[in-house]
Amino acid sequence: FVDLDSSATTPVSERVLAAMLPWFCEVYANPGSPNPEGERAKAAVMAARESLAEFLGAEPREILLTSGGTESNQSAVRSALRSRPERRTLLLSAVEHSSILGLVPDLEREGFTVHLIPAGKDGRIDPAEVASRADNTTALVTVMYVNNETGAINPVEEIGEVAHRAGALFLCDGVAAVGKLPVDLRRIPADFLSLSGHKIHGPKGTGALFIRKGESFHPLMPGSQERKRRGGTENVPGIVGLGEAARESREFLVEGPEKVKRLRDRLEETVFSLYPKARRNGPEQASRRAPHMTNLCFPGIPGEKILLALAREGIYASMGSACSTGALDPSHVLLSMGLTREEALSSLRFSLGRRTRPEEIDRTLHALGRILGQTLTRRVS
Ligand code: PMP
Repeated sequence: FVDLDSSATTPVSERVLAAMLPWFCEVYANPGSPNPEGERAKAAVMAARESLAEFLGAEPREILLTSGGTESNQSAVRSALRSRPERRTLLLSAVEHSSILGLVPDLEREGFTVHLIPAGKDGRIDPAEVASRADNTTALVTVMYVNNETGAINPVEEIGEVAHRAGALFLCDGVAAVGKLPVDLRRIPADFLSLSGHKIHGPKGTGALFIRKGESFHPLMPGSQERKRRGGTENVPGIVGLGEAARESREFLVEGPEKVKRLRDRLEETVFSLYPKARRNGPEQASRRAPHMTNLCFPGIPGEKILLALAREGIYASMGSACSTGALDPSHVLLSMGLTREEALSSLRFSLGRRTRPEEIDRTLHALGRILGQTLTRRVS
């Protein structure tokens, strides 16, 4: 099959798998055990932490190892609210992932006020919109680095500064950015940044949360591990895999994104020539878009129809996040950008990956040509 849904997940790479294997059966010790085997496991966890820190421009002690993007996001939100108890408001971008927006009903029941910051037409969050809402009641501002449905890159450097000027903390969901473009926490003034292993050819159920040095952290699961920041015996093979995935991603970032971008651009340009009414949902400028993704609206054609027709040919794209409930709901991201329900339901996300080959783009374009041609002929006759 042709996988144009790499934003949903990626396969574990051979290199990551090889790094993980010895830690299942050969060295299986608990990193907390005071014996040489335990020491080895502990050192492996530390090496992974160092790899992640280096990858992100952080210090090892700023990296909390978690079960993935969802846990990282939710523990950051909960911690921020506990460390700013006098502040009862949150500013969340309206295009955040469901792992953040899904908290809203609970937060409101608990008496917090949540303001959603709408996206602009291009899917980006304007720092001025954040500035106009942030004040001395704001505990936390949350804006993702790259949107996982459109690939729009947010100006998180400025947004972080705006949050701090109001005395609020800044959480940046980096899940869709890490491994796709350089993420340097010396430049981004985030207090928290989340990432997920399975989006970067690491194992599912692994991830990390960057917590800036000096910022207090209130654990979601108290316990002795992770310097008392997360209870539970460490997932040693998973953590080793995540560390290796970070190393491999770092190498990929040298030349990989440009290659992926060329394929993405060819896909887009050919679609526009096949179906001139097609439009891109997302920023115009290349510098404001992650290189691996395009979200396209085919006005007048239900996206589901194209998606199913592609799937019949073994080509997998998507209509938005794999984490949304009810596949037929229009995407909250596209609605926030001002698309109508119909336009949102006529839109598809194509997310390329490290392994996408030029022939796969050719195959997709041929299939799309046939599918769009048939749909158009049927509508004319
Ligand atoms: N944030 C974003 C932007 C995502 O795309 C995802 C995964 N779909 C998550 C968070 C959640 O990550 P995980 O699957 O590791 O819980």
